Order: sequence, then structure tokens, then C-alpha cells
Amino acid sequence: MTTDSPSAELQTPNSELLLSFDFRNPPDPKLIDSCVHCGFCLSTCPSYRVIGKETDSPRGRIYLMDGVNEGTIPLSSATVEHFDSCLGCLACVTTCPSGVQYDKLIEATRMQVERNHGRSLPEKLLRQLIFSVFPYPNRLRLLLRPLGLYQKTGLQKLVRSLGVIQQISPQLAAMEAMLPPISASAFQDPIPAVIPAQGKQRYRVGMLLGCVQRLFNPDVNTATVNVLTANGCEVVVPKLQGCCGALTHHQGQEEQTKTLARQLIDSFAAANVEFILVNASGCGHTLKEYGHILANDPIYANRAKEFAGKVRDVQEFLADVGLTAKLSPLQDQPLTMVYQDACHMLHGQKISVQPRTLLKQIPGVQLREPVDAALCCGSAGVYNILQPEVAAELGRQKVQNLTNTGASLIASANIGCFVQISKHLELQDKTVPVLHPMQLLDYSIRGVKLSD
Ligand code: SF4
Ligand code: SF4
Repeated sequence: MTTDSPSAELQTPNSELLLSFDFRNPPDPKLIDSCVHCGFCLSTCPSYRVIGKETDSPRGRIYLMDGVNEGTIPLSSATVEHFDSCLGCLACVTTCPSGVQYDKLIEATRMQVERNHGRSLPEKLLRQLIFSVFPYPNRLRLLLRPLGLYQKTGLQKLVRSLGVIQQISPQLAAMEAMLPPISASAFQDPIPAVIPAQGKQRYRVGMLLGCVQRLFNPDVNTATVNVLTANGCEVVVPKLQGCCGALTHHQGQEEQTKTLARQLIDSFAAANVEFILVNASGCGHTLKEYGHILANDPIYANRAKEFAGKVRDVQEFLADVGLTAKLSPLQDQPLTMVYQDACHMLHGQKISVQPRTLLKQIPGVQLREPVDAALCCGSAGVYNILQPEVAAELGRQKVQNLTNTGASLIASANIGCFVQISKHLELQDKTVPVLHPMQLLDYSIRGVKLSD
């Protein structure tokens, strides 16, 4: 364990000495002062576990925030590097015995960094590419056809074997490596605007499609609708809904996040639903934060609070209202399964029991628990693109821990984790299927066997 002094490595060129936070919502000194430097959070912090430096731990970053606030540490590239290495997984918030609100601190810090720190040109271009494409499903769809050709013609295999992209940029190579197989269903949104409940209606609920999920794993949305309707929900899916802003929010893109949040609130305005359900944990966590994100918006503040009050993770909702549909076994023999906790579900929304409760109701399911269940898989939004080395080590460890349980299936409730885990299973030549709990419940309700 390395515990080098944070200030020792922050020697910066003179030109950077004056750089600091501005006066618009710097990390709150009161929250900073609530850290008693006990270090309990260090062992649960994934960036600290991989990088091993104090400055890449929650305590070290809080020290840096304080220093920048006080003007004793510059907001230099060397400092920003340590803020960038944070996965935003919030494990430290769960661990901290003093209740330090690190989530609020890193959120304020990231917005400050984006406003006041000049990134290098390649970094800027990469971020611009991500933020101008990923949150817009229609723009992403434009890229799907050429990407599909790239996969099907064998060019992808050739490019990967030559390591061409890796030589240009490790981040671009990481982005390319994440690309899941592109299916025909990625080109359309087949789910109707309103799907009636089967049998007696118990609830009228709205559903978020997600921007990456609807393209790269659309079966999860179809399965979610099936499970909800089979359990007495009428499901409303506003056609105009776009990205919820989770991706931009986690990277400090303040104005873009607010714009996306307002648009999403508008798109659900006429839905007249009791709950807004989400099947991707990163999105769910951000939607629940809308009241905070738009708190200073004179027009949207109250609407955002009301909207956030209706948001539930779909598993949280179903465990709460109870399943009414009959469940059948997914195979003739007992099925061992390991549930992977996504950080924004476990640490961000404190949801861990509900998915397990639902999965255990499927006849024959035996749940296993992995080592380091609460440690991030390295996906963390676009972290696995921006910080590929740390993300790769975390992905490697996560897949090893999941497969070491001997389970024959991995259940994962977040699109980012699904992509990351699938990639590392492939890298380790492991063929364990990764399915969303909604897919498993859907199969179980419809009597589909896993071998079918
Ligand atoms: S953030 Fe919490 S756990 Fe970590 S050093 Fe500070 S007080 Fe201790
Ligand atoms: S959010 Fe995660 S990566 Fe960032 S400091 Fe906390 S535990 Fe470490």
C-alpha cells in the first residue's frame, strides 16, 4: 500500500499555479470538513485498490479539493488526473462512518474541472465525441450501419489483430472493444406507446428506454414490458423520450445534463403515470437526483422534484408491489446464479435485497455471492473508455470473482456492467451467459427454458 504525500506529486509548471475553482458551487467546505481522515473508505475504493496512491482514494481527493478551495493546491493537470481517476461508484459513501457526502463533493468538483481546466486537444475531442453521440439514440443509430458492416465484413477482426486503434489512442481502442454485436432490432424502437396490463390492472407506470440500452441490448426493454404487464401494469413508453443525462451528469457536463433532464421531464408530462420505472441503475440513480440537478431552475424545480418522487428501479418496484404472475423453472435441474451488484444500484440507490428477492422466487434458482460484491466492475458510465487501464483491471477482477462462485449464469441489471462483464468474459474465454433479471423473470413467466 502506497501512502505518498499528496502535495509531493503536485509540482506543476508555473503557468498552472493560478488555476483554481470558480465561485459557482465549489465543493462545500463543510462537507470537506466532515471527513475525519480515518481511512476506512480506502480499502473499498476501486481506484485506490488498483492504483494504490493516496491521491487516488476518497480521502486523498477530499484533501485535494480542500487544497484547491484554499488556494494551496493548483487545479493543474496533475490534480485533475486524480479527480478523473475516480469511478464515481460511491462505495466510499456506503463505507464512510462519518457520513461524508463524497457524491456531492465529486459532483461539484467535476463541474468545476469542466469549467476551469483546459484539457489536452485529444482529450477534448474524445469527450466531445462521447457527449455529442452517446446521449442521442438517433445519432448513435446513424453510426450503427457502418459499424455493423465493420463487424460483419471481418474488418473488426483484422483491425483488432493488428492493434491499429490501440496505437492511435488507447481510449478509442477501449471504445471499439466495448462494441457489442449489432442486431437488426437496434435500428427500431418496437415497443408501442401504451401496452395494456394482462388481467386486472393494478398500476399505470411509465418506462424509460435508456439511450445505449435500447440500441445495444433492446431485449431487456421488451422483457421489462412483458414482466410488468404480466404483473398487472399498464405500461406507458413516451415516444419522444431521449437520454436521462446520467452519462453527462457523471462527467460534470452541467448544462447538457440539465437540458436532457428538462427534455425527459417534458416527454413524460402527459403520461399520467403513478411511477416511472427504470431498468438501468445508472439512469435510475440520476433520475432520482433530478430534484437536486434542477433545484435552481425557476420553471422546472418543482416539476423535477415531483418527477423524481415517482422514479423507481423496476426491481425495487416489483419487490415492493409483489409478483402476481406465476413463475416456472428456467431449467429442469436447479440453476445456480450470481447476481452482480451495479454500483449506482447498491451504493447510489441502496438496492441490493430486492433483485435477489425477485430472482429467488424463480423455482429452482440458487443464488451465490461473489467475493468483493460491492466493488465496481470498472464500467462506471464511460470510465472504461476514458480510463481503460484501471477499468480493465477491475473488469478482470470482477469476472474472476463472479465466475469463481461456480454459478452457471450471471444476472446483471445495468447496461454498462453488462457490456463490461461480457467483454471480460470473452477476454478470459469464459462462456457464462449474462442476463438482466427482467429477462430471467420474463422467461420464467412465459415458461421459456434457458436451453430453448
Ligand atoms: S471519507 Fe469518511 S471513511 Fe474516508 S477518510 Fe473521510 S471520514 Fe474516513
Ligand atoms: S466514488 Fe468510488 S472510485 Fe471514487 S473515491 Fe469513492 S470509492 Fe473511490
